[in-house]
Amino acid sequence: MTTRVAVAGSTGSIGTQTLEVLRAEEGRYELAALGASGGNLELLVQQAREHRPKVVAVADESTAPAVSGALPECEVRAGADALASLAEDADVIVNGVVGFAGLSVTMAALQAGRRLALANKESLIAAGPVVQRARRTPGAELVPVDSEHCAIHQCLRANDNRARVDRVILTASGGPFRGRRADELDEVTIADALAHPTWSMGPKITVDSSTLMNKGLEVIEANELFGEPAGDGGCGIGFDHIDVVVHPQSIVHSMVEFTDGATIAQLSLPDMRLPIGYALAFPDRITSAFGAIDWAHLGRLDFEPPDHEAFPCLGLAYEAGRAGETAPAWLNAANEVAVQAFLDGEIRWADIGPVLRTALDLYPGTAATDVGAVIDTDREARVAARSVIQAALLGP
Ligand code: MG
Repeated sequence: MTTRVAVAGSTGSIGTQTLEVLRAEEGRYELAALGASGGNLELLVQQAREHRPKVVAVADESTAPAVSGALPECEVRAGADALASLAEDADVIVNGVVGFAGLSVTMAALQAGRRLALANKESLIAAGPVVQRARRTPGAELVPVDSEHCAIHQCLRANDNRARVDRVILTASGGPFRGRRADELDEVTIADALAHPTWSMGPKITVDSSTLMNKGLEVIEANELFGEPAGDGGCGIGFDHIDVVVHPQSIVHSMVEFTDGATIAQLSLPDMRLPIGYALAFPDRITSAFGAIDWAHLGRLDFEPPDHEAFPCLGLAYEAGRAGETAPAWLNAANEVAVQAFLDGEIRWADIGPVLRTALDLYPGTAATDVGAVIDTDREARVAARSVIQAALLGP
């Protein structure tokens, strides 16, 4: 029997690579539905013509007539809830939407009792307590499509007793500015920040990698995914037991250290098709070897501590994560605003950390009671971050 897959964010980096996995694993999966929140409609139509899904969703209603005209055999859904509605049409929902906008897809997939292959880490980070409740829906299952968390998911399977996990160690490539001191980062450009040494990804996450905010958000993500009590899918570890180590080759995707000092690591080439295929096939595996290593020619693997002075965003994420409730939502929203301001040429790369430091100091401490509280916090944090940026632009 084929597994029905829905892809939200099909024209993005994760979406296009998901379709490559489906193509490579032909006969095993059926693309039941796909959707995009904006952008490249030509690509969306081309994807639908190749994979012939029953349903195509577009977030922007004004584009619906053109998409319907190009795809007469498809049911075209349009509007703010269109992407989330795809959860009803598949067994596995791949959430490859960029940023906080992916929250509705995450919630819909879990509330429909489906497997969520989650590449949209922002929804889990920002709405942690709310998403945790949705995870308890019968049938709901969350498998991470983030190389580090996919690695930890695999490492945890190596030991039956989750109570014997001592530490989770997330690896970070260090991004394009690894090894530079704080005073050497004042004049870096947008092009410098977008030149990631090992991974090919969208612009937002690539900038986050350059500031180490991506790793900070992944620390919060790891706490949400694996911090649950042992026996409940997690291993009961909290922020004090989640460490980050810089590993420039991006071959070791993360590690789990057990109480006897043994470390289990997962290694593969940096290729997101492996975590995507893992999340589709778990507990089985796909048969296309996207990440296979040529060991004889691999060379060396290096590890070093992160530089918290040059990359203050990592520490800010730990701080927001420990504060809990809507603090991660606040930091995530402020970060989306700051990254956009950097990409628009409004602020320098070196301003991102200080802007977020000031923004986090304005966090009002709202409880994450429901999705509404998280969405309100997200909106308020964006306003706060904008005002911090405006104040910085005006100068003292
Ligand atoms: Mg990652």
